[in-house]
Amino acid sequence: MRMRLLHPFKTSVGTITDKDFILVEVKSKSGLSGWAETVSDAIPIYHEETVKTNWHMLKDILIPKLMETELKHPEDVSKAFKDLRGNYNAKAALDGAIWDLYAKENGISLTKAIGGIKDKIEVGVSVGIQKSEQELLQKIEGFVTKGYKRIKVKIKPGWDMNILKAIRKEFPVIPLMADANCAYTINDIPYLKQLDEFNLMMVEQPLSYDDLIDHARLQKELNTPICLDECIHTVEDVRKAIEIGSGKIINLKIGRVGGITESLKIHELCEENKIPMWCGGMLEAGIGRAHNIAITSLANFTLPGDTAPSSHYWKEDIITPEVTMKDGYIKVPTGLGIGFEPNMEKIEDLMLYSETFHNYE
Ligand code: MG
Repeated sequence: MRMRLLHPFKTSVGTITDKDFILVEVKSKSGLSGWAETVSDAIPIYHEETVKTNWHMLKDILIPKLMETELKHPEDVSKAFKDLRGNYNAKAALDGAIWDLYAKENGISLTKAIGGIKDKIEVGVSVGIQKSEQELLQKIEGFVTKGYKRIKVKIKPGWDMNILKAIRKEFPVIPLMADANCAYTINDIPYLKQLDEFNLMMVEQPLSYDDLIDHARLQKELNTPICLDECIHTVEDVRKAIEIGSGKIINLKIGRVGGITESLKIHELCEENKIPMWCGGMLEAGIGRAHNIAITSLANFTLPGDTAPSSHYWKEDIITPEVTMKDGYIKVPTGLGIGFEPNMEKIEDLMLYSETFHNYE
């Protein structure tokens, strides 16, 4: 699928104008369908996977593997994939579609199937790097007026302390955080200590995408809590991060950690260790967004996430109804599975290519 974003999204690593992704539908003999999206980009600027590596993994390895697996519960998907290294996003897409199908076959919502407890979730917004400070402040003003519960700004060297200072001058008390997407190194520790001046909720992934150790060194020097994103792929990564103090908050993305089953393990570990969580965004279309809403309904997702309404990203989403926000909250749907219907007409419109795999007559 290819979807044009309403506004190009710029981070420290690049700009995304079109969202390319794979939409996965799994069908049961009873005729029900479960749905999920991949979240990798066309090029590996967030994690190592890309849309094409996702396609290869799904078609050549993961789908054949599932065909020979007897599935009694969605957790069996994660078990079947456990000896296949990496490729968390490709795995997550199949895992997520099967969780949705499982919920539908059991006549319950995905939220209920995974143990979610909230009936609405708090909504934050992620603001990309803008052309000017003025433009950024105007955008933030608009989002604050709309009722978003926290503002996250993307930072990078040259667009960091200066803009945070400007934001704090205009908005001294809004819940504010900064996401560096790995733009700094260990040599920047003295510089990054200036972040403590801005009363941030957290700074997200300041250092390398594969690092836990330097983050622990930085966290010792910073009062601002570090939130880990890119460097967390498994429950073991979280255990290590907690053990050495790499950060105090976890941004969870289902597609970054291999799916819902693995997300639930991370959720449990974080809850035990009093590590607050929130759900990050990967510019998802409606189906991925619906999965994010379900996961955010878990008890330990105590901070507002990046799951904004459909209209923030798209002229028209691929689900009905679209995801909407009221007073800074999104209602958790109670319908079957993900609780939103795929808009098949729109999906057909946006589909570049499709392939079907059968394991029964
Ligand atoms: Mg991030």
